[in-house]
Amino acid sequence: NTVQSQEIIKQTEKYGAHNYHPLPIVVSEAEGVWVKDPEGNKYMDMLSAYSAVNQGHRHPKIIQALKDQADRVTLTSRAFHNDQLGPWYEKVAKLTNKDMVLPMNTGAEAVETALKAARRWGYDVKGISDNQAEIIACEGNFHGRTMGAVSLSSDEEYKRGFGPMLPGIKLVPYGDLDALKAAITPNTAAFIIEPIQGEAGINIPPAGYMKAAYELCKENNVMFIADEIQAGLARSGKMFACEWEDFEPDMYILGKALGGGVFPISCVAANKDILGVFNPGSHGSTFGGNPMACAVSIAALEVLEDEKLADRSLELGEYFVGKLKEIDNPMIQDVRGRGLFIGVELNEPARKYCEALKEEGLLCKETHDTVIRFAPPLVISKEELDWAIERIQKVLSAT
Ligand code: PLP
Repeated sequence: NTVQSQEIIKQTEKYGAHNYHPLPIVVSEAEGVWVKDPEGNKYMDMLSAYSAVNQGHRHPKIIQALKDQADRVTLTSRAFHNDQLGPWYEKVAKLTNKDMVLPMNTGAEAVETALKAARRWGYDVKGISDNQAEIIACEGNFHGRTMGAVSLSSDEEYKRGFGPMLPGIKLVPYGDLDALKAAITPNTAAFIIEPIQGEAGINIPPAGYMKAAYELCKENNVMFIADEIQAGLARSGKMFACEWEDFEPDMYILGKALGGGVFPISCVAANKDILGVFNPGSHGSTFGGNPMACAVSIAALEVLEDEKLADRSLELGEYFVGKLKEIDNPMIQDVRGRGLFIGVELNEPARKYCEALKEEGLLCKETHDTVIRFAPPLVISKEELDWAIERIQKVLSAT
């Protein structure tokens, strides 16, 4: 009996803008790695809301923080101080090893913040002439859906009908150091990059590239911005994906798991020479740094640390990739990943496999047509992962 789900989907399709193409499943309850539909069918979540629920659905500690804070104060705006923002600033500054933090709500807003910081830093600190600042981004990037973020994109579908785009943006192939070198000019303010490209299909740059790119930026006084919104916060088997190459970017952009999948919160973190360019009136958001988000985020970060979720991701990710590589199917072109951030690239569209996996009780979403992304909540147990692997083997094995 799927009447209720079908009704909800019909209502959603009728009244909602069609800017998404979800799998035909309605989630009405969730806990840990599991979700349920209104009919009581249970599924394992292998997407984790694009890495926003790294801590698992409704982690008890995070929910408790939400409830406690809801009973005290939820919103003050930034016209006044609130008692959660200071402790949250300190927590994120220490975690990122940066002097300062600026809170926003969604990932795309944090990306906008990074772009504004980069431009103003370019003029005020680096000395670029007015309105000449350039920002370099990578082909295949995904930094969000706002005008600034889509202006960075190389995907025509993300930009069609939304022009004119933001000027002053250059694109270079992901992983190509020579191209980056050639693109840098005295007007380059920043280079923005995902340390692992998520939406493009879990693309990992060639070994050594990230650190070499960072050093190249240093030599040319170019700000290096790491968009760790999806790859960061333990997802890739390290707290930050930049740790894979043992360097610290000039600026981190964080979001998603920063709110534990419970409350939206995002931020940028950088040193004073960069974030010091913002003065009162230059940037902000009514909800940015609100006490609900900050209380939830402190708990969400504590869960990542206390439960050593980066280590768990690393260990289980290696095991998972090993099992996926054993699957014998000529349609599988590549299995790649870091930690529990895994892509299986097929030489045919992935959607039908995602639909078949759903029938087996596993929720996955294709990305860029031919890649199945496996990114379960990092609290997944070995037994739960084995349960998933058995079903993935069944669906992906050659028939
Ligand atoms: N940057 C990266 C790397 C992302 O993966 C995403 C979302 O998928 C964003 C930015 C945008 O975040 P949001 O959807 O919260 O605006």
